Amino acid sequence: MNIDIILGKTQEHLVPLEGTKYLVHEQMLHDFLRLQHSAQKDGFDLQVASAFRDYDRQLKIWNAKASGEKQLIDDQERPLDYSQLSPTQIVFAILRWSALPGCSRHHWGSDIDIFDGNTQTASEVKLVPSECFNNGPATKLHDWLDVQLSQKKAFGFFRPYVTDHGGISPERWHLSYYPISRRVIDVYTFSVFKRNILESEIMFKEIILEHADEIFQRYIMGFDLP
Ligand SMILES: [Zn+2]
Repeated sequence: MNIDIILGKTQEHLVPLEGTKYLVHEQMLHDFLRLQHSAQKDGFDLQVASAFRDYDRQLKIWNAKASGEKQLIDDQERPLDYSQLSPTQIVFAILRWSALPGCSRHHWGSDIDIFDGNTQTASEVKLVPSECFNNGPATKLHDWLDVQLSQKKAFGFFRPYVTDHGGISPERWHLSYYPISRRVIDVYTFSVFKRNILESEIMFKEIILEHADEIFQRYIMGFDLP
C-alpha cells in the first residue's frame, strides 16, 4: 500500500465516475455501479455527493474551520460561537464533522457520500443527519440500504459511521468499500498518523500533537465494521 494513497497525496489509484465530477478507486467502481443499479431497480436514484478528496482540499477545509472562516456546528447542527471556544474546543468541534488532512477516508477512493437524486439535487445536499432520518429526503434510500446491508446485498459496501463512538458524528450517508478500506486501515498506524501531522501545515498543530493518542483512537480507529 502506497503511503501517498492513505494520505490523499496521489490520484494514481483513481478513475472517473462517469457522468459526475468525482473520482473513485478503480477497484471499487464496478461494485458501486452494481449497487447503483440495484437501487435503481427498486426506485432510487443513488448518487454520489462526495467521493475522493485530496490532501490539499482537506487541509483547506480544516484551516477554514480552524480560523473561524467556516461555520462550526454542534451535534444538533446548531451554529457554534467561534469566539467563545478555546483552541482545544475548536479542534474537537471540527473533528466531530471533518477529518484532519491525511486522515479522511475520502482520501482512499473507497469511500463515498450518497443521496437520492429523486428527492434532492446535488446542490441541495448538505450531508447532515436530518436529511437521512424521519421525513428527510434521503431517509427512504437509507432504509432500503439497511435492508440490503442486512441481506449482504450491498456489493462490499458498509457504513463505517453508524454508531457514535464519541469521535466522528454518525454519518448515515457515508459508505465505504470494505475490500479497499480494510487494506488501508491495516497499515494506518499511529506512527503514520503522527508523522503526517508533524509534516503538515495544519492550524492548531501543537494541540493536535498534544492529544495525538486520543485523536487517533477516537477519530481514526473509532468506526464500525461491516
Ligand atoms: Zn463522507
